[in-house]
Amino acid sequence: MLTRCYFCGGKVREQRVDVDFWWGDKLVIFEDVPARVCQQCGEKFFRSEVYEEMESMVQREEKPLARITVDVINFGQRLEV
Ligand SMILES: [Zn+2]
Repeated sequence: MLTRCYFCGGKVREQRVDVDFWWGDKLVIFEDVPARVCQQCGEKFFRSEVYEEMESMVQREEKPLARITVDVINFGQRLEV
């Protein structure tokens, strides 16, 4: 069981989180996903069966709770160094 963050060594805690889940070019947001979250850097870690379940829910086209639209903005040449 993971107790320390793989990246920064911070403490991880069991929490329910929202996940932006990309499946090809499709974006699905999952709510209330069990994860271990680093209290230092915020990295989320999922058990493999949790990840697999999200994949299969996307593939089954599970009935969504809601649909949102998001703006896509190109950062372009701003702040080029
Ligand atoms: Zn961390």
